[in-house]
Amino acid sequence: MRHALSVASECAPLIKTGGLADVVGALPGALAAEGWALRTLLPGYPSVLRAVGAGKTVWKDKNLFGGPAKLIVAEAAGLDFLILDAPHLYDRTGSIYLDDGGQDYADNPERFAALSWVAAYLAANGIGDWIPEALHLHDWQAALTPWYIKEMGARAGTLLTIHNVAFHGIAPAARLNALRLPANGFTSDGFEFWGQINMLKAGIVAADKISTVSPTYARELTTPEFGMGLEGVIDGRQADLCGILNGIDLEAWNPATDTAITTHYHTPRGKKKAKARLEKEFGLPAADGPLCIVVSRLTEQKGLDLLLDALPALVDRGGRLALLGSGDRALETAWLRAADAHPFVSVRIGYDEDLSHRMFAGADAVLVPSRFEPCGLTQLYGLRYGTVPVVALTGGLADTVIPANTAAMRDGVATGLQFHPVTARALANSLMDLRAIYADAPQWSRIQRNGMKHPVGWDVSARAYAELYDSLSTPA
Ligand code: ADP
Repeated sequence: MRHALSVASECAPLIKTGGLADVVGALPGALAAEGWALRTLLPGYPSVLRAVGAGKTVWKDKNLFGGPAKLIVAEAAGLDFLILDAPHLYDRTGSIYLDDGGQDYADNPERFAALSWVAAYLAANGIGDWIPEALHLHDWQAALTPWYIKEMGARAGTLLTIHNVAFHGIAPAARLNALRLPANGFTSDGFEFWGQINMLKAGIVAADKISTVSPTYARELTTPEFGMGLEGVIDGRQADLCGILNGIDLEAWNPATDTAITTHYHTPRGKKKAKARLEKEFGLPAADGPLCIVVSRLTEQKGLDLLLDALPALVDRGGRLALLGSGDRALETAWLRAADAHPFVSVRIGYDEDLSHRMFAGADAVLVPSRFEPCGLTQLYGLRYGTVPVVALTGGLADTVIPANTAAMRDGVATGLQFHPVTARALANSLMDLRAIYADAPQWSRIQRNGMKHPVGWDVSARAYAELYDSLSTPA
């Protein structure tokens, strides 16, 4: 086996706020089959330290970005971890990125610069006889690593994966020294961005290879509409950029064996009981329209404000909606109001993994109206569970759903519905199409069956990552 280090701010099942965690948690299993053994370097948040229990301390530092720190080797959930225990950085009462008031921690740049610095230290020194041949860096939280590697005079190939270009990791220029960054990097070719330090940009300019989580998003990233100001820099790295689709865990998400659901099924017909249960759980009346679900963070990106506007197209025609999500307070309130106003809408504010499984098992369709979506996982769960995805034509949603247009319907290959442009009106039209296709039982079951057969695992993508790791570890 060859050895790689994966560096991230979250990793399922230990700590998760979004799809990043799922991917980081799935990569070691997927890459093992390709001959790469991954260790994951993760911050020692209180819940992570509790989950891994006592591990072996392999490194200590009296002053890592302002306080004492140690590195613990631990195994948990079948994964091989290096946990960075640094209470001054990670022992907080809020969420992993936000304080109790919902604001970014002021020292987020230092918190994750420290993680990146330790990653570089490991690349340079290893632990015992373990030394990584390749480093896989995820998002801005790991993106300073190539700079520290250079500073340490080490040689290790780096791959930066952009899971979401919307998050940059911005710090004032005055924090240059505190972040242990070289002053000569503070240029437009380096990590300077409108007079500030941009940690994601630092990674984009300095990593050996860059990937993102779908081919369409890889193309979108080089455009002003999606690049969030970094499109020019990313375009400059075209030659080293690729898009590799995320997969899902086919064991955890398997309608035939899922431990979170009570009635298992192999074909869409078997969903019936799960659907009745879901209606009951959400207090939704039975009706002849499709039972739709949303499982999502409630943020601008996810387009759920558009769905609020398009709701009548679904619920005034016998469709129903069960939504599970949390995030922006204003959106949470608006959705709770919508549930009060419509008997066919039911909302749970919160985060609940088991409930999300029951929702995918029992629903007819899953709605994903994102304004942008680097890959998206919920449409993949939908495919696997015979829960037809209705998605915006963007990013990974474009790459994973075969839309029910005339040609695809004629050829019998459609797996879902896609709408464009990403507006409430186009979404409403798509919901009306959904209603019509749902009413045609043979057509509907064909789409469901196609979806259940669509490959959504890691095989192909693991091979693509392994090839990238190979290219990093082979000296040029
Ligand atoms: P993002 O990473 O932008 O949030 P993804 O679709 O890539 O979007 O991944 C989201 C992940 O988080 C999925 O596994 C989804 O099921 C899960 N998820 C999001 N919100 C909730 C929630 N409220 N309860 C349970 N799971 C959720």
